[in-house]
Amino acid sequence: MREHDADVAVLGSGFGGSLCALILDRLGLRVALLDRDAHPRFAIGESSTPVADMILRDLALRYELPRILPLWKYGSWRAAYPDLVNGLKRGFSYFHHRPGEDFAPRADHANELLVAASREDALSDTHWFRADVDAFFADEVRRADIPFFDRTEVALRADGRGWRLEGHREGAPVRVGAAFVLDATGAAGAVAEALGIADEGARLHTHSRAVYGHFSGVRRWDAMMTERGGRLADHPYPCDAAALHHILDGAWMWILRFGNDLVSAGLVLDTRRHPLDPGLAPEKEWARWLGRYPALAAQFAEARLADPPGRLIRTGRLQRRRARAVGPRWAALPHAAGFVDPLHSAGIALTLGGLERLMRAFERDWGRPSFGPALDAYERAVFAELALIDRLVAVCYAAMPDFRLFSASTMLYFAATIAYEQARASGRAGERFLLCADDRRLHAVVAEAQERLARIDAGDEASVAAYERFVENAIAPYNTAGLFRPPAPNMYPHTAAPLPGDLRS
Ligand SMILES: Cc1cc2nc3c(=O)[nH]c(=O)nc-3n(C[C@H](O)[C@H](O)[C@H](O)COP(=O)(O)OP(=O)(O)OC[C@H]3O[C@@H](n4cnc5c(N)ncnc54)[C@H](O)[C@@H]3O)c2cc1C
Repeated sequence: MREHDADVAVLGSGFGGSLCALILDRLGLRVALLDRDAHPRFAIGESSTPVADMILRDLALRYELPRILPLWKYGSWRAAYPDLVNGLKRGFSYFHHRPGEDFAPRADHANELLVAASREDALSDTHWFRADVDAFFADEVRRADIPFFDRTEVALRADGRGWRLEGHREGAPVRVGAAFVLDATGAAGAVAEALGIADEGARLHTHSRAVYGHFSGVRRWDAMMTERGGRLADHPYPCDAAALHHILDGAWMWILRFGNDLVSAGLVLDTRRHPLDPGLAPEKEWARWLGRYPALAAQFAEARLADPPGRLIRTGRLQRRRARAVGPRWAALPHAAGFVDPLHSAGIALTLGGLERLMRAFERDWGRPSFGPALDAYERAVFAELALIDRLVAVCYAAMPDFRLFSASTMLYFAATIAYEQARASGRAGERFLLCADDRRLHAVVAEAQERLARIDAGDEASVAAYERFVENAIAPYNTAGLFRPPAPNMYPHTAAPLPGDLRS
């Protein structure tokens, strides 16, 4: 029998839960971390962004976690932990395909969009090989001597003053008593499930599902572009060193390349256009999509599924959003509170941004009457960020039939995230929400884009141009990065915020 008393029990040891455990321990609270699984294990959600990096840096500095600090940029990560697998992410690359046709690059880059997120490799974002990265964070918890019960699934019971968590680890009973439970269980939403809190995800604007896995032997896209006569000299960075998106018919594919030659790839499908057919095996569905797009078939011709997970994982509708993210004596991290879609790679940033807000609440308000209002403020931020990312993603799905509409729609996201990024880099972000999601006008702009897209005739040049003009004008107050004015068509080399000199390496 293992019994333990804690101020805070953190459920879930993804990077989010482990980081919370480390910070709460630094704040002097008694913490216990529990996970039903054991590391290393496969996890999805791998692509960081400049905002995610900045928050990770600030958390590592504020809470004196020097071993976490190097993970905030590609160069410092590689130098500090050469064996901890990541991938180089210089930006966001998009390529538009037509069913039944090979990809044909154009001199005017009309079917390509490259948006740089960093100016050089050393300062760039990373793809996180989550099996390794989450194991690293969990090892930090062990190094800090924080009680960590892996392979332990517990039943939760609220008593008058707190929680009783009871389960088993390797056949032996485990009991943890805690004043507060922090739910970092992601999609499982363990606390919301225990409390019967509804999932209102069906109300979200985005409708998508995914089929994904890890692969070896996936060809580089720049080599395939070169074979097809593409003008790579205009690319602001090597297009594979990115979150690479193939934009398809009512669907898209992500390709993230790691330093160990493995690739994370996933199809994300609009469920209204491509509903799930349970009779069709995921492998067959994957093969069917490759069969429709000759360039994708060529890119995956030699690909083999890697283990873990050793198979394709297929989800139902991805969108979920709990009715509450906090309550008396509990709070859910953003990924347990809700999720929209992998498009725009917002998950790690939202997780770290929410975590930062929540840890500040513990730092300032734990044990005081102000703690409840601080949790409520955290919930407002999480829900506003989820609501905005939902619309930012939904407009991109609505725009997918026409790549000009799609590119213009991505600019809504880039304007929002870069505006926040630059405010944060210059110390002006304060209590602002990520993506400037506290800005009502921005929500209204994206809602209007959504309404306009619903009425637009994608084939009509004049209405496409009018939509582009609408987005360009609407984002003008946030557009500090020259969006819509690239030096070469659809090629954006300079969206990255300058970094303070002492933190460049
Ligand atoms: C298909 C898909 C693609 C994504 N792509 C991206 C991307 O490209 N970029 C990005 O930034 N984000 C992406 N995300 C989001 C990203 O996955 C999350 O933001 C991130 O994983 C959140 O980390 P976390 O530690 O909070 O939770 P998780 O990573 O979900 O970890 C949850 C942990 O809780 C444990 N657990 C579950 N149930 C229980 C229980 N009952 N008791 C105890 N432990 C439990 C699990 O074993 C796991 O260790 C994607 C998400 C999905 C679904």
